[in-house]
Amino acid sequence: MKDYYKILGVEKSASEDEIKKAFRRLAHQYHPDRPDGNEDKFKEVNEAYQILSNQDKRRQYDQFGQTFDGNNPFQGGGFDFNFDHSNLEDLGNISDLFDNLFEGFGMRKRKTYQRGSDLEVGFQITLEEAFRGVEKDVIYPTQLICQDCSGAGHFPKEGFTDCSACDARGEIRENRNTFFGNFSQVRRCEKCFGSGQLPNKSCGKCIGFGRIKSERSIPVAIAPGIRSGQIIKVPGAGEAGERGASAGDLYVKIILQPHQDFELRGDDLVIKKEINLLDILSDNKVKVKTIEGKEIDLKISVGTDLNEEFKVVGKGMTQLGSGLLKKRGDLFVKFVIKTPKKVSGKMKKVLEELKKETE
Ligand SMILES: [Zn+2]
Ligand SMILES: [Zn+2]
Repeated sequence: MKDYYKILGVEKSASEDEIKKAFRRLAHQYHPDRPDGNEDKFKEVNEAYQILSNQDKRRQYDQFGQTFDGNNPFQGGGFDFNFDHSNLEDLGNISDLFDNLFEGFGMRKRKTYQRGSDLEVGFQITLEEAFRGVEKDVIYPTQLICQDCSGAGHFPKEGFTDCSACDARGEIRENRNTFFGNFSQVRRCEKCFGSGQLPNKSCGKCIGFGRIKSERSIPVAIAPGIRSGQIIKVPGAGEAGERGASAGDLYVKIILQPHQDFELRGDDLVIKKEINLLDILSDNKVKVKTIEGKEIDLKISVGTDLNEEFKVVGKGMTQLGSGLLKKRGDLFVKFVIKTPKKVSGKMKKVLEELKKETE
């Protein structure tokens, strides 16, 4: 039979407050997220607290050495934390201790320390990069976890002292006398951030905040077909939280640089192409470059209206979300017609002959 009083290191006659205090201290000490934590001890301490903090259960335990609620989740020995939620409530402000632990169990969280901010950064890429997709290092100013104290803001191994401002309660009760009577209000202790304990040694590098201003570089995969204004979310890449609280997210807003040749129009690309009338008449072919850096021959057939855009099917921009299929829009060529700069006597003659032929 387990001795819950011994586990918490308190007397059998301990008050509710003493039990709570002992629990807080030990939960701090054994928390599995700490480098020197101990999951088994932590579990044991929690088990003891669940029983001794509940008046009915404590009475049963004192009397019979066990409790009779029939579903003691700890009897199975598993670390399943399926216990009475109401007891979590009075853990109050030290619940940050449990943040990571309970996140996976769908439990309500109470935040003590501030989560890191989300960040949004604009990031420019070329049209070619947007066409084929690319992985880029995005560099941005942010708050990083302090390496000296691993983000805690203090050194847990140096121990803790009860906070004198709140008498180790983590909260401060204030009484107000008003015309209507006495009111008492409870607020979180700012000195110990609600933990009831002050670390014996704070981190000098981050002055206790657990994070420092810095710069970060993170690789971001950009899918083919992305467009200006689209945002890529990188969870957890925002600012580090204070004193080990969770980090914010990073939002990378893509901006396509203007291209010197191509204009993006929906899924289509538009390119201007200078052509010489004589070239067309003699060859019927025009070379045009594509976004993938190739050159293609356009066949201009007789009767083509050169004032209209010439459509090349499937040579436009990648459609976003088209995946491996990489569906593409079309390429539209706008002709800019040029006449020869000089017309020699010989050319003139030939052209006159031609003119007769076409009449
Ligand atoms: Zn305090
Ligand atoms: Zn630090």
